[in-house]
Amino acid sequence: MSSFYTGAEGCPYPTPATSVQVRNGSGGGLVLLQDTQLIETLAHFNRERIPERVVHAKAAGAYGEFECTHDCTDITSASFLNTVGKKSDVLLRISTVGPERGSADTCRDVHGWGMKIYTDEGNQDFVCNNIPVFFVRDPIKFPSLNRSHKRHPQTNLADSDMFWDFHLGNPEGIHALMHLFNDRGTPASLRNINAYSGHTYKFTKEDGSFKYIKLHLKAQDGVKNFTAEAATKIAGENPDFHTQDLFEAIEQGNFPKWDVFVQVMDPKEAETYKWNIFDMTKVWPHKDFPLRQIGRLTLNRNPQNYFTDIEQAAFSPSTMVPGIAPSADPILQARMFAYPDAARYRLGVNYQQLPTNRSKAPVYAPFQRDGFMNFTDNYGADPNYLNSSLKPTTFKAAGKVSTTITEHEKWVGEVSSFTSQIGPEDFEQATALWHVLGQQEGHQERFVNNLAGHLSGAKNATIRSRVYEYFSYVDKDLAARLRQVTEAKVAA
Ligand code: NDP
Repeated sequence: MSSFYTGAEGCPYPTPATSVQVRNGSGGGLVLLQDTQLIETLAHFNRERIPERVVHAKAAGAYGEFECTHDCTDITSASFLNTVGKKSDVLLRISTVGPERGSADTCRDVHGWGMKIYTDEGNQDFVCNNIPVFFVRDPIKFPSLNRSHKRHPQTNLADSDMFWDFHLGNPEGIHALMHLFNDRGTPASLRNINAYSGHTYKFTKEDGSFKYIKLHLKAQDGVKNFTAEAATKIAGENPDFHTQDLFEAIEQGNFPKWDVFVQVMDPKEAETYKWNIFDMTKVWPHKDFPLRQIGRLTLNRNPQNYFTDIEQAAFSPSTMVPGIAPSADPILQARMFAYPDAARYRLGVNYQQLPTNRSKAPVYAPFQRDGFMNFTDNYGADPNYLNSSLKPTTFKAAGKVSTTITEHEKWVGEVSSFTSQIGPEDFEQATALWHVLGQQEGHQERFVNNLAGHLSGAKNATIRSRVYEYFSYVDKDLAARLRQVTEAKVAA
């Protein structure tokens, strides 16, 4: 780096604070078009902002390491999991979902968890949340869900009527709502949240076999939450509370750690299991599929530059190493398109070349070249077409990718239009969580208060009544308490 100021093309400038003007005795000055320094300074400032993420805009992030702690070679051939003690570098970005970039960290929301493991066989991204389920299971509903949680098209305000109207029309979200409105909707720190893949993935082996898995990350320091009142107060006092807390903890050497687990299911078990394992509104109960540890995550290095390291980071569930593969979860399939597409829009078609996204394993992808802002050697004279005899290339991964099709993955059928239907089973796991809350001192009461705080903002009495009925399918007592507390707030 130069020790004196230059323009962006390296030419020294006299001082960065001057502009070229024709001046006269009146004290005024005419600024000249030839003043490249001034024009560059103003023009670049106008272009400093890149598109804000449509979801997950507000975030904190840091670097660290993933360590394989247990032998996993019986379930996956992923290289970063093939030796106990093996460490891989990691980037983690934790965000709220709905609110904008400048919003308060402690507002009630699901928290997103973008994790990039820079393995020796390329990048492995996991895009998790701090809740184990999602609000919808039909991918076409995804934009509608997010709009209903954001701002009303007329008032530009968050809108409880709109929020509940969406959820009443799409009741499969009840389980996720039970997560959002309990204490975990307002974490005390990003160091004290758990994260879940939600999606079912596959762990694959070179012999062609595979297992279905769900990923769980548990904070070693435990889950800690704010009450709704504390979260609201902090949002006013320090909107960047979580960002500051994470940065300062790492700066002080107080490195956050998570134990990383998988639930493992054989494809044969999936065929007869009670729950559809491709339905992201459902968990696999622990008693059926206990957690098995595979590793440990430690954050130990703050970003050097927020924009370069965190804002330019792009994560996608389609970024997978040999040994890990997608399942037939329709939301996962859709996210595998939507996430890279968002990155292409936000960062440009060569976003994988940016320092924070770049693989640490060698990259040779000569059929993906050119495009805006390509700053590699662009594969020089190498053929840009397949199957060249002039420069034959071997394919290392060929032997590592599962090619055996099991009974559970034989896809034969008719092309049809499909929307999932709602049934009583959609409320069962929500009820189970209501009972989990019942085992924790005062938690059911806080849940009712949190929910009533939001619902009492709905001006439409019919919508409120329908929400009471909706929650009565989770638990009748919950619904009665919700009605009482909400209507008291409305009347107050
Ligand atoms: P268990 O009855 O075996 O255990 C309850 C689980 O609930 C705990 O392991 C804990 O998961 C989680 N939990 C505790 N407090 C809260 C809270 N305030 N908000 C959300 N989760 C909490 O669990 P089951 O597997 O039989 O599932 C019962 C219910 O627990 C489910 O319907 C689901 O809503 C919830 N749950 C289940 C998970 C799963 O993957 N099976 C994961 C998380 C929640 P953890 O240790 O991960 O924090």
